[in-house]
Amino acid sequence: MNKIDLHIHTTCSDGRFTPTEIINLCVSKGLAGIAITDHDNFDGFQEAVEAAKSTSLSVISGMEVTSLFNQREIHLLAYGFDVNHEYMKKISSRQRKVREKRAEKMVTQLTGLGIDITINQVKDIAGSAVISRPHIATALKKNGVVRSHNEAFYKYLADDKPGFIKTDQIDFNLVINAVRAAGGITSLAHPGNFYSDEELLMLVDAGMDGIEVIHPIHTYALQRKYERFADQYGLVKTGGSDFHGKTKLEQFRLGTVAINPAWIKSLLN
Ligand code: AMP
Ligand code: MN
Ligand code: MN
Ligand code: MN
Repeated sequence: MNKIDLHIHTTCSDGRFTPTEIINLCVSKGLAGIAITDHDNFDGFQEAVEAAKSTSLSVISGMEVTSLFNQREIHLLAYGFDVNHEYMKKISSRQRKVREKRAEKMVTQLTGLGIDITINQVKDIAGSAVISRPHIATALKKNGVVRSHNEAFYKYLADDKPGFIKTDQIDFNLVINAVRAAGGITSLAHPGNFYSDEELLMLVDAGMDGIEVIHPIHTYALQRKYERFADQYGLVKTGGSDFHGKTKLEQFRLGTVAINPAWIKSLLN
């Protein structure tokens, strides 16, 4: 049975491939369906749908929203929403703006450390994509400040490093309610070991519809834990590769770290 990958990034956020290239790759990997889940936008959806028209691949609308829960950053995956719904458009335009402001602050912080980087350069690198830390990492690499993205993160950009600034996150309740109003569902991205049982229940109580069971950071034990949790609370089980197209390992995961279509029947109809 062909699988479905519900977690993929494109050039509309910090992925390497365009939506059209993603469709071609996913067809070649034998997937039955995908959702493009760029950070804080769904700009790639229309292009993906167009590209998938001549194939048997199904495309579901998606987005990975950087949100605030319990004073922490949480990633909420949204699926199957109406991309023309006013609330969804509002969320993505808000997120684009706050990310641009945050990038400006990060660049100011870096130049304060004597580092060679400008906001215009970062904006050029991002192009029409929503700006995220990897774009800043690319600028640092281009300017010879670091040799790799990894070095950029461990020296300057990781959460506890001197170049980091938090995104002005959007409240998780707002996201859950907006996505529901737009006819979609929300699912907790890569829960890993990051949440207590109490926190998971708070999210369920708030109306979160699903949980990401299958993700590259999940061990089999975690997969089983979240599968049981989903069954116990009647949540939709989601999953995918979190593909950004940047490493060989990810190329291998695309087509393998994916879910059974039966898990998301309601989304496919
Ligand atoms: P942002 O959403 O702007 O905070 O950027 C986070 C993105 O940076 C993540 O989605 C990853 O794609 C990427 N990222 C996070 N940590 C690292 C790291 N240590 N090395 C490379 N990329 C990373
Ligand atoms: Mn990313
Ligand atoms: Mn994430
Ligand atoms: Mn992701």
